[in-house]
Amino acid sequence: MKLDSDLRFKILEKVGIYSARFSISEPKILFTTKEVLDMPKEVTEGRRTSAYKYLGVSYIQDNVVFINVRKMPDEKILENTIVHELIHMRFPYLSHGRKFNKLVRRGLAGWTFKPYTKRH
Ligand SMILES: [Zn+2]
Repeated sequence: MKLDSDLRFKILEKVGIYSARFSISEPKILFTTKEVLDMPKEVTEGRRTSAYKYLGVSYIQDNVVFINVRKMPDEKILENTIVHELIHMRFPYLSHGRKFNKLVRRGLAGWTFKPYTKRH
């Protein structure tokens, strides 16, 4: 997809809506690999120069999300990617798998989630 100011706005709008539903603070969104490389190295450590390979990357510790707009084939996958990354933010202890995918489907279906509380 072509990144212009309309699309940036649209993505931020969706991030705002889903962040509210998932009870998370809105992450900082990076839209290009250049923006990833411009971030401090500590933030993007581990997935910095490899970020271009993915549709999205969550840097959970620093509340930063990369949405790889250039790689996005269509709006549906864009929406999926936004929800996928925000589910990482809301459920930081969960890795990919059946449970994770179920939460992504619920997120896309409009579910809301209570704030994350750390277990002791
Ligand atoms: Zn993921």
